[in-house]
Amino acid sequence: MNIIERGKTHLQSLYSLSKRTAWDWKRCPTCGSSHTCCWGGYKRHPWFLDGRHEVRVQRHLCHNCDGTYSEGSALLVRGSWYAREVQRSAVDHWQHLGTSLRRTAEVLRSWMGRQERWLLWHPLAEEPNERCYLSASTVHRWLDHAGKQAQASVAGQLQGIGRAQTLGTDGLWAKLKGQVQRVVLLLADSVSGLLYPPVVAEGEESERSWQQLFAQAQQAGLVLKTLRGVTSDGAQGLQAYLRRHLAWVQHQRCVWHLWRNLSPHLSRAASQAAAGLNGEAAEQTRKQARAELTTLLHKIMDAQSYDQAEVALAALQGHPLGTAIATLLNEHFDRVLVHLVAYYEGLQRVTPEWYWRDFRLRLSHGRNHRSDQRLQRAALLWAIYHNFEPAQARSERKRHYRHPGQSALQVAGVPPGQVSYLDALGL
Ligand SMILES: [Zn+2]
Repeated sequence: MNIIERGKTHLQSLYSLSKRTAWDWKRCPTCGSSHTCCWGGYKRHPWFLDGRHEVRVQRHLCHNCDGTYSEGSALLVRGSWYAREVQRSAVDHWQHLGTSLRRTAEVLRSWMGRQERWLLWHPLAEEPNERCYLSASTVHRWLDHAGKQAQASVAGQLQGIGRAQTLGTDGLWAKLKGQVQRVVLLLADSVSGLLYPPVVAEGEESERSWQQLFAQAQQAGLVLKTLRGVTSDGAQGLQAYLRRHLAWVQHQRCVWHLWRNLSPHLSRAASQAAAGLNGEAAEQTRKQARAELTTLLHKIMDAQSYDQAEVALAALQGHPLGTAIATLLNEHFDRVLVHLVAYYEGLQRVTPEWYWRDFRLRLSHGRNHRSDQRLQRAALLWAIYHNFEPAQARSERKRHYRHPGQSALQVAGVPPGQVSYLDALGL
């Protein structure tokens, strides 16, 4: 079952629980016998978003197996003082709004108990008689549970969804407890934007980290055989992994990262041009040399065809200051232009860094997660959330969305419909 089917099943189970009649409850859940009778009941006082309610729970006795059982409710979570809506809204506050555990607890307490912030919102309201004591540690426990559910959902999560052929990868560094540094590695389908379950690794330079990432993606449903291309920055570990294990997969160097790597070489060449000059003249010459080289580089990097790029490369080699840069670029030449080949259609020229904006907005740089395991669970949870969440419908001044108003799952051809990420996590 993939993640949407699991969500549907969970939603269906809640629905049928809510529709159970007195007659349905007559059947013993242990042995299936209907030879049962009502056996008293007890009262519970769970908190809902609009306050505390009294709920009576009916018990039954089974004459066949001599066991007793009590009726369940879709609105409640067995053994919890807080209704399902409270737990789901806590996870959503933290995940969608990016609030801290402490503030999530505070705002939910305010809603439930008509206390704290509620009194700011309602200037004439009075202190409630009964206070709600939801704590940040309880919210943390719920989130931890959600994270474990996300972890358990990795196998088969995207089975049969998307059929990715071109991927983009990137890493985001996080500082954890005790000066420990870890990197969250991400693998995204370049066409649909579907995220495969991320991995927390010790570094980008080891082949093993990338192997972990691809192995987990494979477990989640990625078919390695049909892969065609991967976009990444110059991380050695990934290149080694691709060469050794996915020899048929082409590597596209991220153009943005390459520009950044070339920048010091450009400066050096420009200084060379200005050698022996000083003052205004030196500055002018430096600027002009840099502009000339940049124009030539653009012609290579942004070429519309291999032939155009070849011509531009020759021009760069011919430039009195361009030889060193041309030699450097020649090494990456093929890997800069993979995206032009029809077979690799969909492959991006740059690594998918824009996902980290969404990640950081919600999970910060990772400091709050403190340990590897917690960061791992948070990243897995976020990836599921991200796949379900529609992109903003409206473009902003600086940000445009490739598929406005659509979720990655929808773009991949499997619209989740009624199913939310919370259902998918079985909460
Ligand atoms: Zn029974």
